[in-house]
Amino acid sequence: MLAHLASLPQQPAWQPVPDDIAARFLSPEPPREGIGAEGAYQEFRDTILPYPNGNLHPRFWGWVQGNGTPLGMMADMLAAGMNAHVAGFNQAPSRVEHQVIAWLASLLGMPPTSGGVLVTGGTIANILGLNVARHAKAGFDVREEGLHGRPMLTCYGSSETHGWLQKGVELLGLGNRAWRRVPVDAEFRVDLAGLKRAIVADRMAGHHPFCIIGTAGTVNTGAIDDLEALADIARDEGLWFHVDGAFGALAHLSEDLRPLVRGLGRADSIGFDLHKWMYLPFGAACVLIRDDAAQRAAFATSPDYLRREARGVIAGGLPFADRGIDLTRPFWALKVWMSLKAHGVDTFAALIEQNCRQAQYLAGLVRGASELELMAPVPLNVVCFRFVRSGVSPGDLDRINGEILLRLQEEGIAVPSGTRVRGRYALRCAITNHRSRREDFDRLVQETRRIAAEVGGAG
Ligand SMILES: *Cc1c(COP(=O)(O)O)cnc(C)c1O
Repeated sequence: MLAHLASLPQQPAWQPVPDDIAARFLSPEPPREGIGAEGAYQEFRDTILPYPNGNLHPRFWGWVQGNGTPLGMMADMLAAGMNAHVAGFNQAPSRVEHQVIAWLASLLGMPPTSGGVLVTGGTIANILGLNVARHAKAGFDVREEGLHGRPMLTCYGSSETHGWLQKGVELLGLGNRAWRRVPVDAEFRVDLAGLKRAIVADRMAGHHPFCIIGTAGTVNTGAIDDLEALADIARDEGLWFHVDGAFGALAHLSEDLRPLVRGLGRADSIGFDLHKWMYLPFGAACVLIRDDAAQRAAFATSPDYLRREARGVIAGGLPFADRGIDLTRPFWALKVWMSLKAHGVDTFAALIEQNCRQAQYLAGLVRGASELELMAPVPLNVVCFRFVRSGVSPGDLDRINGEILLRLQEEGIAVPSGTRVRGRYALRCAITNHRSRREDFDRLVQETRRIAAEVGGAG
């Protein structure tokens, strides 16, 4: 794997799985007799390792995916070797997770009394936060009674909120309609007056507002809601304040970037990833909850077979099982702990700053190219742009830009992803990549212009 990582710059950013290799994965018959470790490893090297989606590569900026660090990889191997069961128990691995939660609370400006739990990803982290909010603010015992015959519980997140919230409101039985999609301003931040109006209107209609969701770093453009103002509104209205900080919350690690996420530490809960902008291997995310008791009140159970004792292996109970859904939980905390120990916070802060500078650099290249257009402000690490040419219809521009994106990927040059900004197709680079260098962005823009001339030049 180390040799593989070292060879990445010489490899295509992505290549499809060849048909003959894809065919080898189609047999429904499991192997009756093993081929041995050597044989299985050889197959891994031949048929799997060369064909990932590309997210290790220096020119991968699609969606928002982290790249994984060598140390994180080795920590995961140690964790798998120990195979610790980190529901809790009287063991060092649980102490590691407690320490990691305390470190992360400190890094994001949350009080040291905060609780939290590591999970597989930002989606789960955010949904756990929303569930604590629902339990704390419903005004009745949701766990016991469910939502039967109650006023609709409503929550508020901008129209730019990531899709985790739709999954969350549906999964928690609130219903998709319970997510009030508040419009955004010119910079894609939640419109505060619109938010206040929505809360008032819902109260007038007999609904029960319970939670405001702010985003620190939207998935589309990296916009950061006015967290300070959202915290004020939540306080005045008696609502829970949850922040989805999937990648953007990590800006708090940098002294220079911290003002962008001012108010983050006033959240009641923050969901964020460690496998995006802390570059750790998947899956690693965290939800922090200001009131640890509220989290346990929302999740803890005490069946007989998990009886707590004051002594022995189960002394200390199962604090992590009591703060979320998972019971058997792997030792995710080790890669976080080892990475912070080995590299130090300042290294991560410097890499995050580097990615933001690269976003500005890319935005500058786009501004400097007459046939390219920046489609949204670049407050953080996400750059949305497209090819434009006068006299070409909006629909044709969308198609041309979609084709440019696919050719960039298929030719193995780079992996941006696509989105729509105010209804128009955009190429989007979300830079959470510690392997990218300035030359990589030069190359992206050069090749985009070349392909644009091929695809869009003839008109
Ligand atoms: C990626 C992302 C999520 C979801 O996180 P996963 O780790 O992919 O589950 C939520 N919100 C935002 C803003 C994101 O970028």
